[in-house]
Amino acid sequence: PSALREIMLEVPKVFWEDIGGQHEVKQRLRETIEWPMKNPASFKKFNIKPPKGILLYGPPGCSKTLMAKALATESGLNFIAVKGPEDEIDALAITRGAGSDGGVSVNDRVLSQLLTELDGIDILLKVIVVAATNRPDVIDPALLRPGRIDRLLYVGPPDCDSIIEILKIKLRKMSCDVDVSAEKLASKLAGYSGAEIVSLCQEAGLVAMEEDNNALKISMKHFSLAIKRFTPRINKEMIR
Ligand code: ATP
Repeated sequence: PSALREIMLEVPKVFWEDIGGQHEVKQRLRETIEWPMKNPASFKKFNIKPPKGILLYGPPGCSKTLMAKALATESGLNFIAVKGPEDEIDALAITRGAGSDGGVSVNDRVLSQLLTELDGIDILLKVIVVAATNRPDVIDPALLRPGRIDRLLYVGPPDCDSIIEILKIKLRKMSCDVDVSAEKLASKLAGYSGAEIVSLCQEAGLVAMEEDNNALKISMKHFSLAIKRFTPRINKEMIR
């Protein structure tokens, strides 16, 4: 039996345009996945192997999972979310062989299983592993060897332009006053992750409702109050 117990087949509906900013990451992912699918002959001619696995790393809430889903949606691939017993691939930290009782720890078994399964994936089956972590430094190097998860892509926190893009994506679907400007808001949200920007928008909605149960629109004032209540959580160590 597989150590990767929870396996779910999903058809995600996340499109590239649902992700604000991160244009370079999107481009790199497209090239990595779509080129081998579109030009198998060139790969054969040059005798180069398409990648089997990609590791997306970076601070929490900055669109790693969204990227994996958009990749599947846009390339017409199935998305199989795999969670190890301890949830994310982080659980496969360098604890290999370091079981306190001197025996093989749970992580050892999960890691060995994952390595076996990775090595067993035939390129012809068109399976690509996209893994995500906040801590690439603790991933066992065995996982990152050529032929396994051998591409690393940094997904960083959004810069000012990306914050504006994320806000625009979210504000489009909210009933906002004309005074609400993504540009003005973005100048106050440096250091926020994408997930935090989304939470902030929700908070602003709640503020508007607290003020008036029948509020029709969210105004800049509501956003300002929401910002006061909010503390972003990405810390410096998480940023490359
Ligand atoms: P973690 O490391 O915590 O698992 P993650 O990097 O995988 O986080 P996601 O799960 O992709 O982050 O993002 C969480 C949520 O934040 C998304 O569902 C989305 O609502 C929002 N979000 C994050 N980044 C963006 C973005 N660039 N554009 C639009 N929404 C975003």
